[in-house]
Amino acid sequence: MDMTPSYDVASETNILCLHHSQHMAANTQKETCDVAGCSKEAERSISLKQVKDSSLSLKPECTRSAHLCKDHYREYKKETKKDRKLNNLGY
Ligand SMILES: [Zn+2]
Repeated sequence: MDMTPSYDVASETNILCLHHSQHMAANTQKETCDVAGCSKEAERSISLKQVKDSSLSLKPECTRSAHLCKDHYREYKKETKKDRKLNNLGY
């Protein structure tokens, strides 16, 4: 006889659903900006050293590459440009 219980199909769908939502959660749980006080979604990741050259202060738990949100990346780029100018002025 066919012993396939119908609830098996349902639970399988459930698992798929659960898996899907977990996947979605992982997807939305993207890297966040590593600048202290910022919790925006990171858009770029640059080396920690580069960020330390700018005036952006990173979260202490950030030890490898720094993730920056769009805004802070723009700020960082502005900063580094400014830095070069300041360097030229002997700052
Ligand atoms: Zn940010």
